[in-house]
Amino acid sequence: MTLRLYNTLTRTKEPFAPLDPKNVRLYVCGPTVYDFAHIGNARPVIVFDVLFRLLRHLYGEKHVTYVRNITDIDDKINARAKERLGDRNVPILDVVRELTVETARIYDEDVAALGCLPPTEGPRATAHVPQMIAMIETLIANGHAYEAAGHVLFDVSSKPDYGKLSRRSLDEMMAGARVEVAPYKRNAMDFVLWKPSDAETPGWDSAWGRGRPGWHIECSAMSAQYLGETFDIHGGGIDLMFPHHENEIAQSESAHHNHPLAKVWMHNGFLNVEGEKMSKSLGNFVTIHELLQDWPGEVLRFNMLRSHYRQPMDWTVHGMKESWGTLERWYEKADNFVSGQPGPAFLEALTDDLNTPLAISELHKAGAAELGAGLKLLGFSGNKNLLRDPNLRSDIEDAWVQDRINARNAARKAKDFKESDRIRDELAAKGIVLKDGPSGTTWEVKR
Ligand code: AMP
Ligand code: ZN
Repeated sequence: MTLRLYNTLTRTKEPFAPLDPKNVRLYVCGPTVYDFAHIGNARPVIVFDVLFRLLRHLYGEKHVTYVRNITDIDDKINARAKERLGDRNVPILDVVRELTVETARIYDEDVAALGCLPPTEGPRATAHVPQMIAMIETLIANGHAYEAAGHVLFDVSSKPDYGKLSRRSLDEMMAGARVEVAPYKRNAMDFVLWKPSDAETPGWDSAWGRGRPGWHIECSAMSAQYLGETFDIHGGGIDLMFPHHENEIAQSESAHHNHPLAKVWMHNGFLNVEGEKMSKSLGNFVTIHELLQDWPGEVLRFNMLRSHYRQPMDWTVHGMKESWGTLERWYEKADNFVSGQPGPAFLEALTDDLNTPLAISELHKAGAAELGAGLKLLGFSGNKNLLRDPNLRSDIEDAWVQDRINARNAARKAKDFKESDRIRDELAAKGIVLKDGPSGTTWEVKR
């Protein structure tokens, strides 16, 4: 079965042939860690997790490398850190670290609850500044970048095919984009590789003074470090195509003898909430973290996959309820997630540019074993307990319940009924109901 993927670069669906089937390489732009991620941000994470799982299925678990970076150098982060700093007398970089480490930890927990595997590598920008500086030095040396007023800028006129991903000419870009006009730029579309930092802003020493890298060079340096000059697939939301991905291409290719950065470029469509663009002012801005208080993570995952990743999607409470109902029925029906193989029609749909809505409709027709295997490939656990109570999200918590049950059984054995009743009540307070049967104690969560 051939995997076919829609390539934004060529605007066509193409058969996928890895550069090296023993090491299929995928890079996805990760979060900027200054605040909770919203449900729109969850879309690329879930979509590319499905791709990661499918590639592992097709090429073998050990033969896929997935890099998703963490942007922890960014002016939004700096602004937030300044607010946090207040009148405390600590270095700003410490506050930035506090903020970004905490935000990244919550992000990791939230996306794990959505059933996403950790990427093979999750590099942070702050740990790769020397690589960024080295790449900028190369770009200056080979005539693609110039220094001006403490800044280093990429010279877009040095790259004749600049604009090939978004298919815009320089004139169109200038007309459409809100470009930052700055006296030190040779061309209005030239973009920042390095900029100076004042004393209250995180900065690193460089040949151009104390400063910090621009956002685009972060991804170019980190993808090169972990995946090499050219890799198979680069992904992100459609909003990143221009200027972010265009600029990644310009930098990386110019630094690497014009070798292509990625063979296939994939972009997910945007997510709206209840028919409207998500925004804080409309009051429909929903974070993953909040949703996970009320909805099981696997329900959110399923709801996301009911739309094709390239289409715009509308996120609704109605859709989440439907998703919950379907998964409950399916987890009941497909209680064997281990032994079956996904059906051919299901795989055909999934390998056709990740057509998850079609794959899901094939699951409606599947028998119990194929259903379980299909759901498993899509990243579902089949754990009915996770589906019943959103607050029981991980195996650690399952293990905790089991631990309490063991303690209760030990107390009962020792005829310490006060203690055993206390443990039963402790669990009941969380909605966990115990059933003692001939083969031991089982439990379930009553909603
Ligand atoms: P950001 O942290 O804003 O760079 O976004 C992280 C990822 O989420 C990027 O791949 C964005 O393209 C993607 N993204 C942001 N908003 C949405 C949305 N409403 N729908 C789908 N993807 C989004
Ligand atoms: Zn990027």
